[in-house]
Amino acid sequence: MAIEEHTKVRPWRAIDRRRSRRIHVGPVAVGGDAPISVQSMTNTPTADAAATIEQITRLADAGADIVRVSCPDTDSTAAFSEIAKASPVPLVADIHFHYKRGIEAAEAGAACLRINPGNIGSMDRVREVVSAARNNGCSIRIGVNAGSLERDLLEKYGEPCPEAMVESALNHARILDDLDFREYKISVKASDVFLTVAAYQALAEATDAPLHLGVTEAGGLRTGGVKSALGLGNLLWAGIGDTIRVSLSADPVEEVKVGYDILKSLGLRTRGVNIIACPSCARQGFDVIKTVEILEQRLEHVSEPISLSIIGCVVNGPGEAAYTDLGFTGGGKGAGMLYFAGAADEKVSNEEMIERIVDAVEDKAAKMKAEREAAEKSAAE
Ligand code: SF4
Repeated sequence: MAIEEHTKVRPWRAIDRRRSRRIHVGPVAVGGDAPISVQSMTNTPTADAAATIEQITRLADAGADIVRVSCPDTDSTAAFSEIAKASPVPLVADIHFHYKRGIEAAEAGAACLRINPGNIGSMDRVREVVSAARNNGCSIRIGVNAGSLERDLLEKYGEPCPEAMVESALNHARILDDLDFREYKISVKASDVFLTVAAYQALAEATDAPLHLGVTEAGGLRTGGVKSALGLGNLLWAGIGDTIRVSLSADPVEEVKVGYDILKSLGLRTRGVNIIACPSCARQGFDVIKTVEILEQRLEHVSEPISLSIIGCVVNGPGEAAYTDLGFTGGGKGAGMLYFAGAADEKVSNEEMIERIVDAVEDKAAKMKAEREAAEKSAAE
């Protein structure tokens, strides 16, 4: 069921999104009613174009809509144009202080610059960066971080707090507004979940710019994933946020997966197979945990949105299968029941179940893809 249909039938699932203005990062729209995009960042040396392109491709395959690449030196911006040409998704060049790297990245094909205009230096330099962005179709992300707030704001407020972060963001934004440059989005990240949420809530009231959400330096896969789900989940549920990055000390591909999981949990994006599975107990008719682990791996390549319930026994199996595209419920005697769109289809032995489920999901994905492409083709005609 499409997201809109879900919320029509079940209004308690509806999220009323804050209406921000729409900007673009290359072909990806950010803000307005555009889908909430998922970002990640490379951690290869940017000067190593081949390694960076390989990582960007892995991130795009995992579903990243936008990828950020650091440009700390001229070797990085020199490699940027080769990287941008090969990248399947638009790139954000991450610039700190060195305004010339910003100009070089804009000229080398960056779709967006992450740069804080207030940190560039003289107004002449700011103007140069903004014209490079304008002339090359680049947007800008103002990225305020609680850990690097301007000294005057720290003196004024005593410590990083939501008011200081919002004031910093609005000061940077004013510089762009004064130059009549409106293609910008803003982030106000902190590693503390409370500070992050409060800062974004206040910022959402103070501007109509699209917001890039993130809990920065969140930690490893599990702790960082939980923190991000709490911080980003809280904001997204309240309708705040237009693009997200989950920051993890882990393979960046995991950032994309966690980002999607957060959006999928809130019904804000659908991508890939959403497996609903029980925790298992003594009633299980097959090894639920191992099966789910295998299915997650085997179905990782599927990008069409398909729901799949894998439930150990009839206590919850038929009920969950009723609301998923495909389902398997464990039974007795080494076999279980396969469901299609909630209807019991056939008994399948535990030995054959994984292959049958993978085949059924891949079949459904192929049909959905063909239908989607036909609909897109006829819409374009
Ligand atoms: S669905 Fe069945 S196997 Fe799974 S946890 Fe519940 S009772 Fe146990």
